[in-house]
Amino acid sequence: MKCDLCLSRKAVIELEYLGKSVCINCLERITRRRIARVTRRFDLIPKKLRKVGILFDFSPTSFFALYYFSRLGLETFLLSKEKVSNRILRRFGVQKAKKSRGMEILVDPKCLDDFSTFFLENLFEGKFRFLRPKDRRIVRPFIYLPEKEIITLLKFRGIRGFRKVRRGKCYEFMLKAEEIRPGSMFSIVGLFEKLESRSLG
Ligand SMILES: [Zn+2]
Repeated sequence: MKCDLCLSRKAVIELEYLGKSVCINCLERITRRRIARVTRRFDLIPKKLRKVGILFDFSPTSFFALYYFSRLGLETFLLSKEKVSNRILRRFGVQKAKKSRGMEILVDPKCLDDFSTFFLENLFEGKFRFLRPKDRRIVRPFIYLPEKEIITLLKFRGIRGFRKVRRGKCYEFMLKAEEIRPGSMFSIVGLFEKLESRSLG
C-alpha cells in the first residue's frame, strides 16, 4: 500500500485519526512539525542553547529524545537513575551526567499518551489539570506525539532497547477511547490549547 500523503513511498503506519496511512518520511515530517509547533508556542528552547539534559528512563520517548537532540549539534547529557550502557551513550554521542548544573534545559520525555493519561487521572479525581509543556527548566517538546508513532520511528531507525511504559488503568481507558473515537488524545490537546489561548488573550 502506498503512502496517502506523498503517493510514492510504501506506507508503514496507519494514522486512524487522519484516516490515512503514511510512509516513514511523511511520518517523520509530521513529527517534526508537531515538535516545532509546541516548541514555538511555549518557547521551550532558548535561543543560545548549548547544554541539554535528557531525563532518561528507557521509555520509547526518552530514546526518541536522544535521537532528536543528538542531531541538533548541542552538548547533550543523559541523566538517569538507572545504569545506562556505553553502547547507548556512544550511539547517540551523549555523555552521562550526575548533576544538571549548567544545563539550560532538562528534557522530560513525555509523549501524547502521557499527556492525555495525566489529564484523565486528574479529571477522575475531580481536578482539571494538564501536563505543562514547560515547568521552569523542565521542557516537554514531545507531548503532541503519539507513542505508537514514536515507536514506529525508532524501529525504522534501528533504535532498540526501549521498555514498555506502565501507565495504569486510566491509560487503558484512554486506549479504549482511541479505539471508539480515533483522535481522542488529540482532542485533549485541542482543549488544552483552546484554554491556553484564552488565558493568554
Ligand atoms: Zn509519504
